[in-house]
Amino acid sequence: MANDLPPKKNAKDYVRDDKAKAFWLTSLYVGNVSGSFSDDVRRTFIINLFSSVGVIFTLPLGVAALFEEEYVLGFCLLMVALLYTANHVYLRRTHNHVLSGKFVIYPLYILMIFLIYSGGVKGTGHVWIYCVPAVALFLQGLKRGLIELALFTLALIIVLYFTNNHFADFGYDPALKSRILFSLMVVIFLSAIYEYCMSRFNHELKATSIELECLAYMDTLTALLNRRGIMQRLEKSTYQSFHLLLADVDFFKRVNDEYGHDAGDYALKELSRMIQQSLPEKGLAARWGGEEFLLAVCDCTKSDAFDLAELIRQEIEDHEFVYLDHKFRMTLSVGVATMNESTPLHDAITLADDRLYSAKRAGRNQVRAR
Ligand code: GH3
Ligand code: MG
Ligand code: MG
Repeated sequence: MANDLPPKKNAKDYVRDDKAKAFWLTSLYVGNVSGSFSDDVRRTFIINLFSSVGVIFTLPLGVAALFEEEYVLGFCLLMVALLYTANHVYLRRTHNHVLSGKFVIYPLYILMIFLIYSGGVKGTGHVWIYCVPAVALFLQGLKRGLIELALFTLALIIVLYFTNNHFADFGYDPALKSRILFSLMVVIFLSAIYEYCMSRFNHELKATSIELECLAYMDTLTALLNRRGIMQRLEKSTYQSFHLLLADVDFFKRVNDEYGHDAGDYALKELSRMIQQSLPEKGLAARWGGEEFLLAVCDCTKSDAFDLAELIRQEIEDHEFVYLDHKFRMTLSVGVATMNESTPLHDAITLADDRLYSAKRAGRNQVRAR
């Protein structure tokens, strides 16, 4: 059993592995070693790989063709090698994988048609065409890829049957032409099925990831942001200053105790709806915890923020909550603080919390901004 285990790595092996990984990442991720594998990075990576593989094959084959005195073919292959090298450099500089992909696929179509027409080196040209479907479908997507592959097949039929190509020169059996076409169609069909499955899988993965992101940043009961959601927004915010309103429902436990947990849930949802309605356009509201809410407002004075807190407090006080045959009222205590250069976000939250509790101590149902 012990023999089945992989050999243990020591620290040096890990450092060497990391260096090798960094080398491949910098060469193939086109300079992006952030570790993120977003769709853009993935496409850039694969197009770069296509370009690199293109150079690796066309360069030696081009040189070999020149030695075998196939000058036109050698020149074409070297031109493609040059184009793919330029494409690699372009991709490294711009990361524009959309245009770069076109520099990969169109020369490839032309080269393949030329190989079929000329026969390549000693009539071997046709063996290379099977790489076209996978590259076309990946770069152009299923629909456009299939249209282009249909046109490519049409061009091949014309070259094979309606031009004075070099097939006869090599004494190939005429059946080879139809076999080339049929086998190409089989490869196109299989590649299309694979691409279809992959794109469906990617689509579903994206949908799931959006759904999970929503769940991670939203509160499912109230549909407001949750604590992580508002913190992420506030930490990313480019505003130099904004005001925070931390609100807590007074004696909320009594609502649960007297009317049941479902009534409490209903009250939290209704309260969230009212808060959301009173919020200015650029404001944010989140469920900070059980029956606590954090609001953030910008582009206004501290006095405006205080007035907003007072308005919400008053609206809640005046509102009658009706759940089944229960009618009850609730009040809010609010602490207001300002985030600015001298008070960073976390300090401003602590300050708002302190002020909220001083509002509680002072008898609840009030706003404190000092
Ligand atoms: P205070 O005025 O001091 O804030 O009193 P309080 O009763 O509001 O505060 P306390 O922290 O004692 O109780 C908060 C209650 O909120 C306790 C908890 O059961 C309830 N709660 C928290 N989250 C939910 C929820 O999602 N749904 C319901 N129904 N109740 C919740
Ligand atoms: Mg409370
Ligand atoms: Mg509380």
